[in-house]
Amino acid sequence: MGHGWEGVVLKLMRGKDFTFTVTGAEQVTERYRRLRLSDGGMLEATGVHPTMWVRLWFENEGKPHQRAYTLVDPDPAVGTFSLEFALHDGRASDWACAAKLGDTIEATVQGTGFTVPDPLPPRMFVIGDPASLPAVNSLLDAMPDTPATIWFETPHPSDADLPIRIDAERHDLRTVPRRDAGAHLAAEVRAALPGLLGDDPAKAFLWIACDAATTRGLTSYLRKELGIPKDRVNALGYWRTV
Ligand SMILES: Cc1cc2nc3c(=O)[nH]c(=O)nc-3n(C[C@H](O)[C@H](O)[C@H](O)COP(=O)(O)OP(=O)(O)OC[C@H]3O[C@@H](n4cnc5c(N)ncnc54)[C@H](O)[C@@H]3O)c2cc1C
Repeated sequence: MGHGWEGVVLKLMRGKDFTFTVTGAEQVTERYRRLRLSDGGMLEATGVHPTMWVRLWFENEGKPHQRAYTLVDPDPAVGTFSLEFALHDGRASDWACAAKLGDTIEATVQGTGFTVPDPLPPRMFVIGDPASLPAVNSLLDAMPDTPATIWFETPHPSDADLPIRIDAERHDLRTVPRRDAGAHLAAEVRAALPGLLGDDPAKAFLWIACDAATTRGLTSYLRKELGIPKDRVNALGYWRTV
């Protein structure tokens, strides 16, 4: 299957293409699935950074369907990583449910990047959900000594059992059931954040990856109402409600 116009654009933007092979699968919860994969030479070619993600090419009724997924525990020495899928109605999600040993998937690496802030913030504020859990865990691993407050939205009751890499001493985890298309999560953050930020918004560090509308709304709140500088907010909508 070709990758259509998106593939052409990514090639022009120097996207690098690889083929991954499924080497294992594990149902973590009813709505969350982990696959082990070999990397087709990717990690050696691209290197690794925290929250690194790839564009995977699925096939949808004969058309290319590109979706982003985050590398879990990439190991460049052996060329392996896992991918974790929050399950819902969707082509990528269906592929993950059906994937078996030896299946392959094409990937393009383009657009990913993250640098740990220097100096480290006194505390980071993280807002995510099951789709961004792999990135949240990667972020917590990358800043192991930084205290963090994490709001984690749970669309499904089983999401409360997901493997968040929390250290009880430094991390304050606030699980928030998904209600009103993310409005409940936004309200919880708005109610608590001003009291937690400290007196210098320029020292804050916030990382947000929820559905696109909630991410956009929270980003605007941080910038316009709390006066947090743009370079202290790392925000990307991870999925769209359709
Ligand atoms: C940088 C980046 C990294 C990402 N990493 C991961 C990752 O590691 N693991 C992961 O699971 N997701 C991740 N995502 C999100 C994933 O790319 C999207 O959820 C994607 O839309 C799934 O594609 P699909 O083909 O299954 O569904 P689509 O065809 O995109 O959508 C089908 C239906 O499912 C709904 N839907 C899509 N995603 C979700 C969701 N997460 N929860 C509930 N409903 C949804 C849509 O609103 C639509 O109604 C990442 C996104 C980005 C931008």
